[in-house]
Amino acid sequence: MANQEDMFKKVVSHAKEYGFIFPSSEIYDGLGAVYDYGQLGTELKNNIKQYWWKAMVQMHENIVGIDSAIFMHPRIWKASGHVDAFNDPLIDNKDSKKRYRSDVLIEDHIAKIEEKIEKECEKAHKRFGDAFDRQQFVTTNARVLEHQKQIDEIHAKYAELMNANDLAGLKQLILDLGIVCPVSGTRNWTDVRQFNLMFATKMGSVIDDSDTLYLRPETAQGIFVNFLNVQKSGRMKIPFGIAQIGKAFRNEIVARQFIFRMREFEQMEMQFFVRPGTELEWFKHWKEERLQWHLSLGIPAENYRYHDHEKLAHYANAATDIEFKFPFGFKELEGIHSRTDFDLSRHSEFSGKKLQYFDSELNESYTPYVIETSIGVDRTFLAIFSHGLKDETLEDGSVRTVLSLPRKLAPYKAAVLPLVKKDGLPEKAREIQHLLMPDMMVQYDEKDAIGRRYRRQDAIGTPFCITVDNDTLSDNAVTVRDRDTMKQERISIEQLPTFLKSNL
Ligand code: ATP
Repeated sequence: MANQEDMFKKVVSHAKEYGFIFPSSEIYDGLGAVYDYGQLGTELKNNIKQYWWKAMVQMHENIVGIDSAIFMHPRIWKASGHVDAFNDPLIDNKDSKKRYRSDVLIEDHIAKIEEKIEKECEKAHKRFGDAFDRQQFVTTNARVLEHQKQIDEIHAKYAELMNANDLAGLKQLILDLGIVCPVSGTRNWTDVRQFNLMFATKMGSVIDDSDTLYLRPETAQGIFVNFLNVQKSGRMKIPFGIAQIGKAFRNEIVARQFIFRMREFEQMEMQFFVRPGTELEWFKHWKEERLQWHLSLGIPAENYRYHDHEKLAHYANAATDIEFKFPFGFKELEGIHSRTDFDLSRHSEFSGKKLQYFDSELNESYTPYVIETSIGVDRTFLAIFSHGLKDETLEDGSVRTVLSLPRKLAPYKAAVLPLVKKDGLPEKAREIQHLLMPDMMVQYDEKDAIGRRYRRQDAIGTPFCITVDNDTLSDNAVTVRDRDTMKQERISIEQLPTFLKSNL
């Protein structure tokens, strides 16, 4: 665990040191759970967004994208249920005066039991060596089964209490599980209370309740309220999807874990409108397709898992999270929800406008059902960044820090480095930089010894270093070094653009 904590600290400090992420308003001592993306972070974040947009919009002829305003009519949040029910159940520890989300306390407790199961598996793995069969072990070992039973019971109890909105019961569960405050170490808890997460603001100059606007806590509602506009203007036929990337705001109470939980963050959401009765098939489809998207980034599959929901929101008939193994354990990265016709029906009711679709094949009108895929840009960033950051011990015993980002997402794709700052090498290197610039982000660096420059590029995740040496002037070739293998190969300048493109 200490190791994990160290790793996480390293992620945060590396992100700052190399210009990926800064605390917001830092010279004024920062602003809680708000962060700014620096020069490299912005590149990585833009690349993540483009990669998602390409996969969702460009590669699907029946999905289109929009960009709706952050300010929306206040009744939208009544219709969506956010005014009445977008709450977190909070609990305070009277000794430390720290505030927690009661569901998070319970999840953390469950995570500790999961760790015990992991330890049992590790022990058994050591004992049995290659013959170890994890699946068989976790389904037969008595201690593991006992732990699993505990987890299942807590899950079931928790779901029952949340569904019944039983706050006293939630507190009792926290007491029964013997959960202590991580800061004070005591069980001196207040009652559980509900707290609304939306930020409110005013529009215009009138001080009247009816002018209260909310900063959107999700981008999805901007899609629902534009359903008819897009369907009609784009002549969309069901099934079809509307995608959107944009900022969302939540007054998170327990805002820690860096960019995992922010008060201002960005979402990439897609609402897929389908014929009623086909929604579970489409839910299954998107559940699989979205996981494939994550895997296409090249991070090994064992870092992802599904977490199917026991506690379904009242409008959902299926829901799952794709969880990622962050430095602090498996946590939600993306949600996939089958939302029935809840959203469109509610907006029909609250706006008085009929939000329906005429299905010419069936010759009837209906309110479409919706499958939602919703992923955080910042959480994806954290997943990719924390997984990629490694300290590697090399053959000569030295250690290098390398950021093994998926190549296609790296801020700079290549760095051009003249071996020495004389003999016409800088000029030649500049020529190569300008040759590549129209197609990709390229950095030029001539400062310090070549080894130091390689390390700097490793630390920011640049997949290729292109070194210009004296031979380059005569043979018109350069040495290309691969970030991950550190292998070097000689490539002619003429072939360089094609080589880079095919390896990115
Ligand atoms: P959590 O349970 O972790 O609060 P959630 O279930 O409320 O998340 P959703 O409402 O399903 O999250 O939002 C969809 C996605 O938006 C999440 O999977 C996550 O990637 C991202 N997200 C949600 N809240 C935040 C936040 N405060 N900071 C950063 N990303 C967030």
